[in-house]
Amino acid sequence: LTSTSDPQHVVICGAGVIGSCTAYYLAKRGARVTVVEKTAAACAASGKAGGFLALDWCDGGPLGNLARASFQLHAQLADELDGASYGYRKVDTLSVSIDESARASGRPSAGSSAPEWVTGPAKSAKPIGSTKTTAQVHPELFTKKVLSVAVEKYGAKFMIGEAQELNVELDGLVPRVKGLFVDGELIEADSVVISMGPWSATNKLVSALTTISPLKAHSIVLRPKPEAAITPHALFLTYRTKEGVTMDPEIYPRPTGEVYVCGMSEETTLPSVADQIFPKKQSIAMLQRVAATVSSHLGDAEMVTEQACFLDQFDEGKK
Ligand SMILES: Cc1cc2nc3c(=O)[nH]c(=O)nc-3n(C[C@H](O)[C@H](O)[C@H](O)COP(=O)(O)OP(=O)(O)OC[C@H]3O[C@@H](n4cnc5c(N)ncnc54)[C@H](O)[C@@H]3O)c2cc1C
Repeated sequence: LTSTSDPQHVVICGAGVIGSCTAYYLAKRGARVTVVEKTAAACAASGKAGGFLALDWCDGGPLGNLARASFQLHAQLADELDGASYGYRKVDTLSVSIDESARASGRPSAGSSAPEWVTGPAKSAKPIGSTKTTAQVHPELFTKKVLSVAVEKYGAKFMIGEAQELNVELDGLVPRVKGLFVDGELIEADSVVISMGPWSATNKLVSALTTISPLKAHSIVLRPKPEAAITPHALFLTYRTKEGVTMDPEIYPRPTGEVYVCGMSEETTLPSVADQIFPKKQSIAMLQRVAATVSSHLGDAEMVTEQACFLDQFDEGKK
């Protein structure tokens, strides 16, 4: 949404990971950047996601090159911005099949790739990523870090406000973006970036170009006892309940000692603000049950966070 070939003032709508990283790179390259956020930085999916990163999982698709570039940029950023401060680390990744009806062995079966802390009925565990191809960040800490460096080091401006419609004027026959209305007031801009996750569809121009179907997903953060010795293995589960329901939850141990577990998604109405998204009790209970089945150490763990957020699914077919 660029109004000139040499943009000077860029207004970024939304301070999730996309808006914050865009602000970081543009401000670093000398653009005048204003980030407009309705609620708080990293208050939505970017603060509640798994933070898992993969080099080559999009290969062969339209996002393949972007995913590879992003994976490499994360490694560079970790050097630039003290990645340890936001939980950046390389991880091994396993696909694990768990069946509640199978008997828990108390330890991984001989020949299994599952780490020692997976004490549940793991039918199989196979490596699907290594420390060369998979990594993680703590997404809330990462998003806040890049935004704070954009502001403190590179002069970006951060403001709380509701991004509304674009101000578009005709330059001859060509429509040009001239600014954005924020809380009813016009902020002049050469370019506007709309990075409001699932709320991007509230912008008329975006909704004319694509359809976004919001998908609600749940997650919990657990703190196991230190003696559980949880190793840096990300787990992608195929999980079968004893009632015969199959699910695909994910488990990410974090360098903070916490363990993040997510899954239980559903299509439902998107609230107008991120702080009005509440988790469903049954979904949280199911994630706790998954965690406890996978590992007795997670069953014994302290519950730190119960949360939900929305993923933005784009209809790529709509032009
Ligand atoms: C459970 C779950 C786990 C996930 N795990 C991973 C993972 O492991 N790895 C991975 O790569 N991805 C993961 N994702 C996906 C990832 O979280 C999202 O792709 C990413 O966070 C989207 O970032 P965003 O900045 O586009 O949007 P969001 O994080 O949704 O941020 C949008 C921002 O816009 C703001 N906003 C809304 N309306 C307005 C307005 N009118 N004016 C101003 N601001 C506004 C919101 O308050 C919010 O802060 C996961 C998603 C979910 C749901």
